[in-house]
Amino acid sequence: MQTRSLARFHLLLLVLLLSGAGCTGGAAQETAVSTAPRRLPAPFTDEAIDVARRFVQPTNDLRLAVLEEELQRRGLSYTLRTFSGTGADDRTEGHNVVVGLGAGPPRIVVGGHFDADRLDDGTLSHGLVDNAAGVLVLLRVAETLRDADLQGVVHVVFFDMEELGLLGSRAYVQSLDPAPGAVMVNVDIVAYGDALLYGPGDLSAAHPLAGRVHRVCSRHAVACVGTPRMPPSDDRSFQRAGIPAVSLAVLPAEEAHRAWLFLNGDLSATLRGALTPPILRTIHTERDTVDKLEPEALTRAVRIVTDLVLDLDAAAQ
Ligand SMILES: [Zn+2]
Repeated sequence: MQTRSLARFHLLLLVLLLSGAGCTGGAAQETAVSTAPRRLPAPFTDEAIDVARRFVQPTNDLRLAVLEEELQRRGLSYTLRTFSGTGADDRTEGHNVVVGLGAGPPRIVVGGHFDADRLDDGTLSHGLVDNAAGVLVLLRVAETLRDADLQGVVHVVFFDMEELGLLGSRAYVQSLDPAPGAVMVNVDIVAYGDALLYGPGDLSAAHPLAGRVHRVCSRHAVACVGTPRMPPSDDRSFQRAGIPAVSLAVLPAEEAHRAWLFLNGDLSATLRGALTPPILRTIHTERDTVDKLEPEALTRAVRIVTDLVLDLDAAAQ
């Protein structure tokens, strides 16, 4: 239980953060971007929750089968890229799913993992926050971009074996022949909340993507919190290969600020325990369930991700 003074300290920290002290972003290099109105992706409804439920499966191969059905239902062409796994999770092969928009080397990769973590009791996590929600968002991003007038090539990629050590994204990057100036946008944990958490890295003006993320947040009137430290996800495979990448998550604003403190603050063990954001007590547990998903949060995520990709695509010309 917290002491009263500790609670006051938390409050002070949160007030400081909510007032903007924890936010980063600022001005990266400026490039003219068309301000012509864009057709926004349609909002998600409760129907999306029913689609998300389909991803609750006993194995990741069955999750892959659901993903393929959802792609086919939307008329989205895709390729399966098979790679060798480690034998963990009882699988020796993984399968990345790539929706290629345009022919040739991609200039923008936008992706997220579809696989779920295996729990201590041997069953597969429902994996709805982490990361079926991200998959739903990416499916709609792919549909919207398919109908957009893209200048360059975009790959929308659903990665396998993220939970086994980013194996799918590593395999994708190893066989990647990127276009000059290629960048990657990762989508992981976007199920509920009204604020965007993004990172990792030095998010000063020198960051190739942070300023753009902030401008998109402003456009959509969404609070945006940049975190130098971000839990590892598939963006790391790109960063290791020298490709600039940013990972996006949606959380309630208070939780996003709390996550910033938890990840970046030099906290005592007591404070660290008290400030552990609920998301970290949800993912990779039996609590990662369908009741956490909010259609409004998915809509927020899909609009931010789509707009960010369109900005990046326009700025590349
Ligand atoms: Zn994840």
